[in-house]
Amino acid sequence: MIAIIGGGASGLMAALTAAERGEQVVLLERQPRVGRKLLSTGNGRCNLSNLHSAPEHYHGDDYAFTVPALAAFDAAAARQYFRSLGLLTVCEPDGRIYPLSNQAGSVVDVLRLNAAGRGVALRTDCQVQAIRREGTGFLLQLEQEQLRAQQVIVCCGGCAGAKVGGSSSGYRLLEGLGHRCTRLYPALVQLKTETALVRALKGVRADAALSLSQNDAPLAASSGEVQFTEYGVSGPAVFDISRAASVAGGGLLLTLDFLPQLTEDEIAAILRRRCELLPELPGSDLLAGILHNRLGQTLLRYCGLRLNMPAAELSNRQRQKIACAIKRFQLPVTGTLGFDSAQVTAGGIVTSQFNPQTLESRLMPGLYAAGEVLDIDGDCGGYNLHWAWASGRLAGRTL
Ligand SMILES: Cc1cc2nc3c(=O)[nH]c(=O)nc-3n(C[C@H](O)[C@H](O)[C@H](O)COP(=O)(O)OP(=O)(O)OC[C@H]3O[C@@H](n4cnc5c(N)ncnc54)[C@H](O)[C@@H]3O)c2cc1C
Repeated sequence: MIAIIGGGASGLMAALTAAERGEQVVLLERQPRVGRKLLSTGNGRCNLSNLHSAPEHYHGDDYAFTVPALAAFDAAAARQYFRSLGLLTVCEPDGRIYPLSNQAGSVVDVLRLNAAGRGVALRTDCQVQAIRREGTGFLLQLEQEQLRAQQVIVCCGGCAGAKVGGSSSGYRLLEGLGHRCTRLYPALVQLKTETALVRALKGVRADAALSLSQNDAPLAASSGEVQFTEYGVSGPAVFDISRAASVAGGGLLLTLDFLPQLTEDEIAAILRRRCELLPELPGSDLLAGILHNRLGQTLLRYCGLRLNMPAAELSNRQRQKIACAIKRFQLPVTGTLGFDSAQVTAGGIVTSQFNPQTLESRLMPGLYAAGEVLDIDGDCGGYNLHWAWASGRLAGRTL
């Protein structure tokens, strides 16, 4: 019998794949239902894959570890496989793939129903506490009983999203069998910044080019939507640099360029014309039509200017200062919102201890791992679920 520990994305995929090969499979899930985290993904829509799923979108000590799994199960294969299960998908212009129903619940339903239909024994409320070697197989310690399995796939996920099932349980199970775990960091997570300025921006969304630096050394860059919150910044462009922020630790500065398509001098020229045309315009409206009103007003305050100051009174130097603030609005980063709010864990079980062609442990034949528990994390945009499917499929096919 094959035991799969964890009824999330990778576990359900591994279970289905092994069952398709006629194996007797038991799927053990500690929560009352399988796929709980999946229900929260993509804001309830489940961004289940990405057309551009390729190794360069993944991180970890050795991101090339993903090559065989991704080559065997790319985005097209994932869409086709889900279609064979009864799930239709759509691909958005940016490559993100969603269920046609726009409901994460549909993804869980097709996986759960097909797994049950193929004879997978789904055991929920069933936490595996330890795994021990017994002969050529394994003995799994459950709360009240022990379970024997010839092969085991650990699909316990990572620490991210604790409220929807994230935990360190998988790392501990594998460490108990001699595997090593790297340091763990929250990734795809909101950043906390100094709040004096951003508090006034709560709820504002803006497109910007972001750069993250530490003691003047550039660390990461991204562009896209930023959402201001009471604690700092969120949104896809922030998620893209959050891994670097999390790993780097302190002394971080976030610089936002709200008009990357214009130079500072071009912006200053636009402001000069505006001041000539509308000399009575109060400072509070100076950037109206260029940026979100509240953002414009905050930038003026950032420059130390009065919001009731008429446009005619602004000097060349002050206009240049505003243009500079639009291009280089700087916020000291004080941390991240942590694992509770993160979408994925950076770090995990060291991949060099697993064979990338099969996902079998190099230390313990018959033991496999898939999904987030391994030291692999993906960019924002469906890459993490794609890794869960591709690795779950590979482990389920080769054991
Ligand atoms: C809010 C949120 C939104 C996200 N949105 C997206 C998105 O849109 N697109 C995307 O690609 N990724 C997204 N992710 C990331 C993605 O959900 C995960 O990377 C992916 O689910 C990992 O799959 P997994 O199978 O490794 O782990 P999981 O899906 O987390 O499944 C692990 C399962 O194992 C169970 N388990 C753990 N330990 C034990 C044990 N000892 N015994 C029994 N069961 C155990 C857990 O309860 C859990 O059900 C999101 C994550 C979060 C938190």
